[in-house]
Amino acid sequence: MINSLRGFRDLLPPESDLFARIEAAAREVFGLYGYQELRIPALEKKELFVKSTGGTTDIVEKEMYAFTDGGGREVAMRPEGTPGVVRAYIEHNLGQTGRNAKYFYIGGMYRAERPQAGRYREFTQIGAEYIGNPSPAADAESISMLVRLLEKAGVEGCSVEINSLGCGECRKAYREILLGHLRGCQETLCEPCRSRIERNPLRALDCKTDGPALAEKAPKLSLCPACAEHFGSTQKLLGTAGVAYKVNTSLVRGLDYYTRTVFEVRTTALGSQDAVAAGGRYDDLVKSMGGPAAPATGWAMGVDRVAMLLKDKPAPDNAPKTFIVAASKEAGEKAFALMTALRAEGISSDFSNFELSLRSQMRSADKSGACFALIIGEDELKAGACAVKSLKVPGDQKMIPLSGAPSAIKRLLKV
Ligand SMILES: [Zn+2]
Ligand SMILES: [Zn+2]
Repeated sequence: MINSLRGFRDLLPPESDLFARIEAAAREVFGLYGYQELRIPALEKKELFVKSTGGTTDIVEKEMYAFTDGGGREVAMRPEGTPGVVRAYIEHNLGQTGRNAKYFYIGGMYRAERPQAGRYREFTQIGAEYIGNPSPAADAESISMLVRLLEKAGVEGCSVEINSLGCGECRKAYREILLGHLRGCQETLCEPCRSRIERNPLRALDCKTDGPALAEKAPKLSLCPACAEHFGSTQKLLGTAGVAYKVNTSLVRGLDYYTRTVFEVRTTALGSQDAVAAGGRYDDLVKSMGGPAAPATGWAMGVDRVAMLLKDKPAPDNAPKTFIVAASKEAGEKAFALMTALRAEGISSDFSNFELSLRSQMRSADKSGACFALIIGEDELKAGACAVKSLKVPGDQKMIPLSGAPSAIKRLLKV
């Protein structure tokens, strides 16, 4: 007996169905906003993530599934989607297609975190990236699309927190101020932070251990006039889009590439530490990865977490509408033809094994959740008919001719 790996799980029904519904809601909303799907590989060169996500981030430093493959190549399972999208954008000159570079992706991400409730080492993210538009309208559109998507999926009580991390210019000055502050309280920092503040002082603000306390006390970034204007316009447009948001100046994001607008979406249903989705602008990333100057914005949503929020909501019934039962080999052939005809008419249909006893087949029919059992016994076979037995209303049974059965069943199902 070989079990699955720790932190990796099988998605069984009905949870697998919940995932599919969240993904379907996402695809529908992406369509409304002009986003197209990009499917990126799960395995990339390790340096892609070191260079983009950032070598001093927890994700890359501690959690990435990185290894040397049989050919001696340094590779890594993707811990997030943005680096792959940016690589694809550059590799295929997607800025030259003449269409907006608005992409979404849906897929598994891999991080070797300590497994805990609701956290997995393989988890599904839905993400969106809009590359090539520097305007606040792109930020506001991206955030409002995320909120619509969560609503569409059935998540309630969402709240958006936003902040601006400024541009390289505002950050340069802030880096020194923050570094001074952190040196002053070095003894209160955790071990990893102490060793990385000189390389990346901002990282400490996002540290899971001392970040929350530090972000409260640390000096705040002051935005340059251009960044302040961008942030102001973004907020105004969020208001126009009807998105409720709160500015949280302590909000920093754990990745190196963010500039200007960053945001998180939380719901009242989960602990305050856990956002269901988060993202922001990354104006310098594409260029720093060897591409053209292409300012961008995007986000990623944790499908596992959203599914957790929705798991107690009633799911649409995906039981088959009809369950076919047959009394003999000959009746079985008629039954098979009947199933084929029903499905061709869009009526879902299932069966167990026509060679088993009628009683055994009826037990399967009862368990299936179907509305009707359609039974072809010896009498029905002779009459060219089938018995329609309601599995919801006891004692409700009638005969209908096999020819034209799908239309009759449709009427009974009121579809
Ligand atoms: Zn600035
Ligand atoms: Zn720390």
